[in-house]
Amino acid sequence: MATHQPPLTAGNLGKHFTVLDPATGDAFGEAPDQQPGELDTIVARAHDAWRGWRADPAARTAALLAAADAIEAAGVDLAPLLTREQGKPLAESYAEVARTAARLRYFAELAPESRTLSDRVAVRGEIRWRPLGPVAAIVPWNFPLQLASAKFAPALAAGNTVVLKPSPHTPLATRLLGSVVSAALPEDVLTIVTGHEPLGARLAAHPGIRHVTFTGSVPVGRAVAEAAATSLARVTLELGGNDAAVLLEDVDVERIADRLFWAAFRNCGQVCMAVKRVYAPARLYSDVVEALAQRARAVVVGAGLAPGTQLGPLNNAPQLARVERLTARALAAGARAVAGGHRLDRPGYFHAPTILADVRPDSPVVTEEQFGPVLPVLPYGNLDDAVEMANDTGFGLGGSVWGTDLDRAEAVAGRLECGTAWLNHHAELSLAQPFAGVKESGVGVAGGPWGLYGNLRPFVLHRPEEA
Ligand code: NAD
Repeated sequence: MATHQPPLTAGNLGKHFTVLDPATGDAFGEAPDQQPGELDTIVARAHDAWRGWRADPAARTAALLAAADAIEAAGVDLAPLLTREQGKPLAESYAEVARTAARLRYFAELAPESRTLSDRVAVRGEIRWRPLGPVAAIVPWNFPLQLASAKFAPALAAGNTVVLKPSPHTPLATRLLGSVVSAALPEDVLTIVTGHEPLGARLAAHPGIRHVTFTGSVPVGRAVAEAAATSLARVTLELGGNDAAVLLEDVDVERIADRLFWAAFRNCGQVCMAVKRVYAPARLYSDVVEALAQRARAVVVGAGLAPGTQLGPLNNAPQLARVERLTARALAAGARAVAGGHRLDRPGYFHAPTILADVRPDSPVVTEEQFGPVLPVLPYGNLDDAVEMANDTGFGLGGSVWGTDLDRAEAVAGRLECGTAWLNHHAELSLAQPFAGVKESGVGVAGGPWGLYGNLRPFVLHRPEEA
């Protein structure tokens, strides 16, 4: 029960890269700067480990359940490290650790169903589900642990082995998670690799990989799909979103304002399925803007490890620059910052929680994914226009409708072109549900049994019916 991952020591200096604390901008840790040339050995070992791992489902379940327990037990180490490198408030890091363990437990106990088919011909077909082989998982920096387990939990439960690459912005908590999980598994069943590009590109293109499962931005998702085409590996892509929240005429603004605010600002807005645009009826527009702005002004911004912090920094300097740029462009085109509107004058990557009113619908802060603590609020006169604006995007991850008459809200939600629609809340997922974006938000399905089958292939045995 060991792993060949390099130890977390400074012993290999020169082959490490520094990790920055987004609350200060200062370096605070190091991760191994692994090179693409190392992948041949790593993938070959993952392939060798696959033989034993796929053979015994009961042993797999037991090992994965033990790993889930170990994650929970390691929360006291994982959560502060996650906050330090990612920026989120400590309580949210603990919640992320809990969800990471819960997802592993959920998939550990899920088994594919073999079944017999009949289409009235005299042949009995039986489906047996088989794992694919070594899986490459590539994840971003916004929920490093939760997204890692969203990849490795279904892949390992299905009987595959996994080579996982976190973002170079957040390698440390993932490495620790890898050590904790690997200690409960046979050697080389789960391997974490850290480093800079082209490490991910070469992993996605590696001929020994049979499934590439990626979460990240649309342009990189496209590149990953092209890389995986080299070996015709299966591809699952969970990509960006530009989710709209459509408020109806009968919405109780004060009642929903907290929930709506946090659906946009949790994790500093760095959530693929955060509310990224709000459409409010013209009659309620100023009430909605003011309710959200009040909350934006009141929120406690600070280092994730500081007690009382509700909103941390953005994770990295390029992301802060992007949010600043989108906000400045909107303001230059006539938008009003009713709260915030600027980065904070302090070390680290802090941006003031920002509510933008009077934003042009074609402003990039509306049409692109801002992925930060900036929320444009737009008025509408006619509900059909609101639905059309909500759908007028290349993305299709989620969307929500907010109102008092739930039947009416549900009818409107049914018109949204997205994978998941919520009523009076947003971005909450059950482990048991399918999660899939439409349009440019993704390819394939994660979550629930669909996530498990996404890591399996059908093997069909045909035999004649007994005479
Ligand atoms: P990103 O696409 O820049 O990077 C994602 C990962 O891919 C990182 O590990 C990165 O190092 C790696 N990578 C970069 N170039 C690569 C290449 N050419 N080949 C292979 N791998 C490469 O995304 P990000 O900035 O880290 O994360 C933010 C994005 O992730 C947002 O668009 C967000 O919406 C999206 N996201 C989507 C979901 C979802 O489930 N749909 C969840 C979280 C985040």
